[in-house]
Amino acid sequence: MKRRTLLQTGGGLAATAVALATGCDNKTGKAGAASTATEAAAGAGATRTNAAAAAGGAAKGRASQSSWTALRKSLDGKLVQASDSAYATARRLYNTRYDTLKPSAIAYVKHPADIAECLSFARRYDTPVAIRSGGHSYAGWSSGNNKLIIDVSALSKVGAPSGGVTRIGAGAKLIDVYEGLGAHGVTIPGGSCPTVGISGLTLGGGHGVVSRAYGLTCDSLVGATLVTADGKTVDCDRKQHADLFWALRGAGNGNFGVVTELRFRTHPAPRAVMAYLTWPWSKAAKVVASWQKWGPVQADEIWSACHLDAHPGGTPSVSVAAFSLGSYGDLKNALDKLADQPGGPGPAKSVRLTPTGYLDAMESYAGCSSKSTAQCHAPGSLPGQTGAGQLGRETYAARSHFFDRSLSAAGIRTLMDQIEAGGRKGVAGNVALTALGGAINRVKSSDTAFVHRGSRFLAQYLTSWPANGSPGSRTAWLNSFHDAMRRHSSGAAYQNYTDPGLSNWKSAYYGGAATRLAEVKRTYDPQRLFSTFPQAL
Ligand SMILES: Cc1cc2nc3c(=O)[nH]c(=O)nc-3n(C[C@H](O)[C@H](O)[C@H](O)COP(=O)(O)OP(=O)(O)OC[C@H]3O[C@@H](n4cnc5c(N)ncnc54)[C@H](O)[C@@H]3O)c2cc1C
Repeated sequence: MKRRTLLQTGGGLAATAVALATGCDNKTGKAGAASTATEAAAGAGATRTNAAAAAGGAAKGRASQSSWTALRKSLDGKLVQASDSAYATARRLYNTRYDTLKPSAIAYVKHPADIAECLSFARRYDTPVAIRSGGHSYAGWSSGNNKLIIDVSALSKVGAPSGGVTRIGAGAKLIDVYEGLGAHGVTIPGGSCPTVGISGLTLGGGHGVVSRAYGLTCDSLVGATLVTADGKTVDCDRKQHADLFWALRGAGNGNFGVVTELRFRTHPAPRAVMAYLTWPWSKAAKVVASWQKWGPVQADEIWSACHLDAHPGGTPSVSVAAFSLGSYGDLKNALDKLADQPGGPGPAKSVRLTPTGYLDAMESYAGCSSKSTAQCHAPGSLPGQTGAGQLGRETYAARSHFFDRSLSAAGIRTLMDQIEAGGRKGVAGNVALTALGGAINRVKSSDTAFVHRGSRFLAQYLTSWPANGSPGSRTAWLNSFHDAMRRHSSGAAYQNYTDPGLSNWKSAYYGGAATRLAEVKRTYDPQRLFSTFPQAL
């Protein structure tokens, strides 16, 4: 058993460093690629007609204040309008780039009947709707100017598993899902950001540190309930409304109805091991070359991601984060092979391997190790928030590519050149390469609307900047990074990293599934009530 990697530890890295490599932080970041806050807001404010979308905001509906008052009275949930003190907080999304958006109202629906009321109002008064769960849409499409936001955060129950299946309300936040299921010793695969909504994540796929073992979040979905455009509550699964169930698993974000409940098959949540390794930048090409051969073919229980970070005016950094549901020794051996395989980077500069309980690992990736569950939320008194909440928001833009093949030497050089250029230009940015394969790729492309099943890894390019600041040259850097890598990629993009800058979004997100998705759309939303955002099916 080789020990070179571990013997060369240059001092352990704090657990928070591991969290930063994968968690809810702008280093792993999120968002669309519009180049200014104004452009972003224009994209997010799009309406049912492309003409209005181009004009940069939703057309005002015909609803009078008395109609809104009537809606308020008809709902069991809370309706927040601009005149309410809660509006300033209620209208916000996770990304501060969208703080300029001014929806007409936010309805915190309590049950399907509330949703049906909202949809009836939208039809009657020609008011564009947006559906919101965790509010982390990269493109800001869970909000919009003059829209009625249907927010499902109050539907947050995480049910006790029964017969290996759990029922989860569409508004549950990931931290509540992990904590709620963790109490029963089980889990579902999902992302690391604690405030992401379970419905937004699942409906676009959902990858996380146990996805190579258990598949995407949507792969564990066994059924869902939604309210369709006509106000009807529809249950779908493999047997009933099977076409809709297929479509929801990868293309469900805002397209077919308001999902109210998701039913998942659960998986064991055993003890685990977290790892984080760094090398000097001079080894970056070898780290990437070695990691991309290694990450996608490890045993299913081993997940990993390789990060290259640009530091304004400084030397870039390279790191690998790994997570395993297997033993400490097996992960240690696997990491030794990553370092020492032919062409590999050799000993890491710093190494940290931490045996951990499963839930502790999720809290660590969430950046919440030292917080209570209540603190691991956004602060406030609205549904989805807690009084004790301590989590803030972020300002960022990001884009993505899937890769079906390893990068050539030229591809790796391009990756490094772009990161080095970012540092020279004073940009704080990075690329995260996440290993896929394992259980994710054992699902047939045609089985779900998440079609990227032949991919070896997913790249996310990201830049962030201070809230209320200007992105400056950052988004130009992001776009040139994305452009430079396109020819090395498969051309596909992750629909949950919604990218308003894609002209070929339909094929990039949905590939060969696009035609079938259009048919499902015609069946369940014939009047295109939900088509209020630029990339609506
Ligand atoms: C900080 C951060 C970390 C992330 N980490 C990961 C990760 O580890 N893995 C990963 O796969 N993704 C990750 N993502 C991407 C994330 O999966 C998507 O942004 C997801 O769509 C967010 O869901 P939401 O409910 O929080 O957002 P929202 O903005 O509320 O919704 C996103 C989209 O889904 C639609 N939608 C939401 N709820 C419903 C519903 N009930 N019915 C129908 N449509 C609905 C909205 O209309 C919108 O189009 C991350 C994003 C961020 C910002």
